[in-house]
Amino acid sequence: MVESVRARADLREIVSDYLPLKKSGSRYRGLCPFHTEKTPSFYVDAEKQLFYCFGCGAGGDVFKFLMLYEKLEFPEALRTLADRYGIPIPIASRGPESGERQKVLSANRRAHDYFREQLRQPAGERARKYLSGRGITAGTIETFQIGYAPEGWGGLKGHLATAGINEAQAVLAGLLAKKEDTGRTYDRFRQRVIFPIVNLTGETIGFGGRVIGDGEPKYLNSPETPAFSKGDNLYGIGMAREGIRKEGYAILVEGYMDVIALHQAGVTHAVATLGTGFTTGHVRLLKRYTDRVVVNFDPDAAGRAAARRSLEVLLESGFEVNVVALPPGKDPDLFVREHGAERYRERLAAAPPYIEFLTRDVAARHDLSGTRGKVVALNEVLPFLARIDNPVRRAGHVEMIAAVLGIEDRLVLQEMQDAVRGRRKSLQPGMVAGARGAWLVNEAESRILRAMLDSRDVRKAMLDELEEDDLEVSRIASIVKVIRDLVVKQEDVTYPRVAALVSDDARDIITRVAALPHPPATLEEGRGCLMALRAARLERQMGDIQKRLETGGKAMEIDELLRRKVELKRRIEALRQASPLS
Ligand SMILES: [Zn+2]
Repeated sequence: MVESVRARADLREIVSDYLPLKKSGSRYRGLCPFHTEKTPSFYVDAEKQLFYCFGCGAGGDVFKFLMLYEKLEFPEALRTLADRYGIPIPIASRGPESGERQKVLSANRRAHDYFREQLRQPAGERARKYLSGRGITAGTIETFQIGYAPEGWGGLKGHLATAGINEAQAVLAGLLAKKEDTGRTYDRFRQRVIFPIVNLTGETIGFGGRVIGDGEPKYLNSPETPAFSKGDNLYGIGMAREGIRKEGYAILVEGYMDVIALHQAGVTHAVATLGTGFTTGHVRLLKRYTDRVVVNFDPDAAGRAAARRSLEVLLESGFEVNVVALPPGKDPDLFVREHGAERYRERLAAAPPYIEFLTRDVAARHDLSGTRGKVVALNEVLPFLARIDNPVRRAGHVEMIAAVLGIEDRLVLQEMQDAVRGRRKSLQPGMVAGARGAWLVNEAESRILRAMLDSRDVRKAMLDELEEDDLEVSRIASIVKVIRDLVVKQEDVTYPRVAALVSDDARDIITRVAALPHPPATLEEGRGCLMALRAARLERQMGDIQKRLETGGKAMEIDELLRRKVELKRRIEALRQASPLS
């Protein structure tokens, strides 16, 4: 099978579809499609049916060329070539589940012929009017092989029967639907413009139908079949892959008409999901061609939740995601018809990274006059930021977010940076006491407090080890003092007891720390946190010394300061090594 395709396929002819070749001695030469070069080092040996590039070392036979160029798997390359040269592929060699798949595909082929023919018939008048009303040219109808399913319940059914497609096969393909109660079958697509869904190897795997008039639903797709999985296919991918390669990114839109209108306007790198959110199957497909996506979804509220889920998948899969914002009520189809491709390309070029788009959107929906509003807004952004894999890219967004949300508070900023670094999805509620201001307790303080409140043994050991200066600027100092007093008086140390004895602000800290999902405290962890706290204190001292060094002074003083600085540095490093937090 493979050999008969190989025997028929002409490598020079296939390669010439993609790039110009010039005869050079006994071989053909061209610019290598697999690396960037100015002088051709890509050779095709027509006799041996092999290609080779002296620049990048790519080489192989006709299958390999298609696999590399079109990013196909071997069976897909085989199918593509077999179809091109009209070689029937025996069902057995298509894999174990292919029997049913083939049945669906052959039913689809017949149905597709029927739909296209119907668009040309007098009955197709309404559909043709609809398409021309939306600016679709005859050439585009041809390119996208658009068809029409007329009114009535049995037109396609009859056509398929005459073509030798039995009812079961047509139901399997989702072309006929079956009434539950009577078992009668009827045409699934009626009075709809039909958009065939074509995969990378040119097979018509399913259909999408847009109702003409007021029927429901507006869009109807083929159901999942052995040949068609919505989660693994993108509308227009076959047509768009060359454009995606050229532009370096894909445009993700919502509807068939968006893909078609953009394509007609010369923006050929757009694809659409098939009425589902973006899935890992889509990721696999798109990743063959690019890891950059510009998303152009309908910005209305209904679209928002679904769109966000799609964006999460994209971000988690390492895609660089930008968002095009069009004026309210304008989808890409409408926009490009009204304003032209140039205006649309300008929007593409100006599309901000998704995080920036989201931050501005969030900022517009929250009252940012107080810290609480800012933290709430920030917590809407952080989950998406945490999904970005690349730490450099992640950190790069911090400044933008702070600016857009108007976060100037040093402590909130610090918390945000920590959250971003640690890919946390929110500022922990215990960390920020909202409107009251910067009542921030850092991770080490919160863990120490929790450890001291949770365990008698840890409490005792920590009280022994805490030096007075350790908590000199800490917001938990007053709480620790209350705990120490209770221990000295040999009274019980419980959350409510301690909370009753401290100030309002300190009580906030206790209740929030109590709600944190910490694992049970251990002495080792408590000590580690203590080390971190101590290191922070020494760092503050070192900062002071640095300032005094910069303002100058007597030589002897400077010597002394430098000596203390070196000593502090050594101690800080030792503490950091002992702490689990650094
Ligand atoms: Zn090369």
